[in-house]
Amino acid sequence: MTAAIIDGKAFAATVREKVAGHVARLKEENGITPGLAVVLVGEDPASQVYVRSKGKQTVEVGMNSYEHKMDADTSEADLLAVIEKLNNDPAVHGILVQLPLPGHLNEDLIINSIAPEKDVDGFHISNVGLLGTGQKSMVPCTPLGCLMMLRDYHGSLSGMNAVVIGRSNIVGKPMAQLLLGDSCTVTIAHSRTKDLPEVVRGADIVVAAVGRPEMVPGDWIREGATVIDVGINRIERDGKTRLVGDVDFESASKVAGAITPVPGGVGPMTIACLLANTVTACCRANGLAEPEGLTA
Ligand code: NAP
Repeated sequence: MTAAIIDGKAFAATVREKVAGHVARLKEENGITPGLAVVLVGEDPASQVYVRSKGKQTVEVGMNSYEHKMDADTSEADLLAVIEKLNNDPAVHGILVQLPLPGHLNEDLIINSIAPEKDVDGFHISNVGLLGTGQKSMVPCTPLGCLMMLRDYHGSLSGMNAVVIGRSNIVGKPMAQLLLGDSCTVTIAHSRTKDLPEVVRGADIVVAAVGRPEMVPGDWIREGATVIDVGINRIERDGKTRLVGDVDFESASKVAGAITPVPGGVGPMTIACLLANTVTACCRANGLAEPEGLTA
């Protein structure tokens, strides 16, 4: 079998198009422009690239982008004051504090100071609780992107066996909640899981979010299964730097029914879902109907 490729880059473009259409309608019919504020503390190069890309894509879909760059030695009180200001600013519908934060700042405290309804990363404890209890919430962008691609490919996920490898708060756990919400039978695997290959072989859907290059080989994959590879790992091969996932694409694509590539799979969906969450937050803040298909 040769797997169908789930093209995240193309799918992300359709999500951005939907977002842009909705933003245009909000402006025209309601005189509202959704706004996304991104707070970056310090000069981590990867974070800078990511924040630039977010700002650019925010503007491209017609939304307002606000960037707050703060020094690496910013105090907790100063950062909290900026967040408080954004919480109270009606032009700001989404707030994202770029992680990781410098070590002297308490990440949990900072994230939980964001107004939950503006928490477009979905990391606030209220949103975690709402998602866990099946209520309307802000859903973390990366797992939301995975869910959108799975729904698009399969239609209904009801009754499917899903194995999520990884139990982080930003990917593994919310992914498992979302799959459970769509009536999958969900197993969460991690570094202490016994006989991981056998666990993965039972899956109709495998979501790999581990951070270990090409850890999941094709012979762990059940024939015809759908494989979502969240991993982004930079490796040296043949004297070149390359990006690879947590799944060995070469062998897995020979047995899987469908698979996301790296790059070009889950990655592009993450920012697209951030934009989707901002529009959703804007609609909720204004008591307007939410766009269809842009949240869980
Ligand atoms: P993380 O916080 O480091 O969590 C990794 C998880 O993998 C942990 O739960 C860990 O288990 C588990 N794990 C580690 N080694 C394992 C092994 N040998 N067998 C089974 N499980 C193992 O990572 P993360 O933030 O979730 O990110 C995971 C990957 O996704 C990374 O490559 C990251 O770059 C990528 N990512 C991509 C996007 C995107 O936009 N595409 C977004 C976020 C993350 P324990 O809990 O037992 O330690």
